[in-house]
Amino acid sequence: MGQAKKEILALNAFSLKNQAKLSDDVERLVLRRRHSFGATSVLFYEHPLHVVGAKGATLTTADGKTYLDLYNNVPSVGHCHPRVVEAVSRQMGLLNIHTRYLFDVGHDYAERLLAYFPAPLTNVAFTCTGSESNDLALRLVREATGGLGVVVTATAYHGNTTAVTEVSPSSYKTGAPPAYVRTVPPPHPGNYGADVAGGFAAAVGEAIAAMKAEGIPFAALLVDSIFSSDGVYADPPGFLAAAVDKARAAGGLFIADEVQPGFARTGTHMWGFARHGVVPDVVTMGKPMGNGFPMGGVVTRPDLLERFASAFGYFNTFGGNPVASAAGLAVLDVIAEEGLKENARKVGAHIVERLAYLRGSCPAIGEMRGSGLYLGIDIVSPQDGSPDPEGASRLINALREKQILIGAAGPLGHVLKVRPPLCLSIAQADIFADAMEAILKR
Ligand code: PMP
Repeated sequence: MGQAKKEILALNAFSLKNQAKLSDDVERLVLRRRHSFGATSVLFYEHPLHVVGAKGATLTTADGKTYLDLYNNVPSVGHCHPRVVEAVSRQMGLLNIHTRYLFDVGHDYAERLLAYFPAPLTNVAFTCTGSESNDLALRLVREATGGLGVVVTATAYHGNTTAVTEVSPSSYKTGAPPAYVRTVPPPHPGNYGADVAGGFAAAVGEAIAAMKAEGIPFAALLVDSIFSSDGVYADPPGFLAAAVDKARAAGGLFIADEVQPGFARTGTHMWGFARHGVVPDVVTMGKPMGNGFPMGGVVTRPDLLERFASAFGYFNTFGGNPVASAAGLAVLDVIAEEGLKENARKVGAHIVERLAYLRGSCPAIGEMRGSGLYLGIDIVSPQDGSPDPEGASRLINALREKQILIGAAGPLGHVLKVRPPLCLSIAQADIFADAMEAILKR
């Protein structure tokens, strides 16, 4: 069993080695794409999917098949949600412009969004992606503290700009982040024993001390508050607080990356950080914010933005533009009106219940972690319980054959990542659980 660490985009990725197994039309598209996109072309699955449409928690392919989507948190309130489609189309026909004008929809959206945040997080700077949000967050904390050093988890992913790649250890195929980025193991009893909160905080403290000893001033602790790329770590609620205290005691700030858990996905709170009872200094957002419309944002304290703005001009042409704001407003409306936080809690709990039962007869299902519709399920060797990335990969491809899409996470890629649109129904969850049962008992 291979236990090599995998780069994040290598998980469930298509390899040209499988080209011979493809049907003619898929092969033609793969080669056409490769021809223009070059080496950065990344595709899912041994047999990539040619998608042509989507609705709710399903995707349709060119051959007319419908797939249940347990992978995508970009269309967070449901693929092509009519409310979002209508809001975006209407605004596009009315006004779309860069953001150095007064326009009502932008002000409405900023106020509606900020109402979901605790004091003193009363300002928002809009961006277009999660990467841009984290890039700006790094600039804010470095300007405020005069520090440079950042502590992240060992398999973190925070985006793709130059600065953000440095704080994304999971992106490195060769080499490692610079000395001013220090990593700590993810918060799990396997790394820290029963006192996850104390152990994780101590590791953060040691990482800060180690960089200070090398003359690197500390700026911030930056975490994805559901630790998705590390393998999904949500429990016990509150464990993050001690690490945040540690960072602040060392003169640093705390950035919560909400690109993954934000917008009600965890079923209990609107934001992942709220599960831990902490108030970040900076919160970054992306993907789920616009249900597929590219948008992001940084919510923070006014003093941090003022400090930054006194040193640099910052203008983001498309960030929070009228169409983005209309999309964002529609997403907030749908989450509230369709009770999607409650749905995430209910359907997520149902999946855990079904799989926990299945585990009794399928020892390949290991530990299950997460909250709401963000779950990580360890796939392990039935013989000795060790991580089984090949087994996870086979399972993901077997689920694809049963028209269910799902991804992997964790440093080895052995964690099945359940992250569907938040409208997933109990009946759809049962389709997934039934398929897991059929495959794992086979
Ligand atoms: N932070 C996290 C936790 C992410 O998962 C991602 C994207 N997967 C990003 C930031 C970057 O977002 P984007 O791809 O929109 O730049």
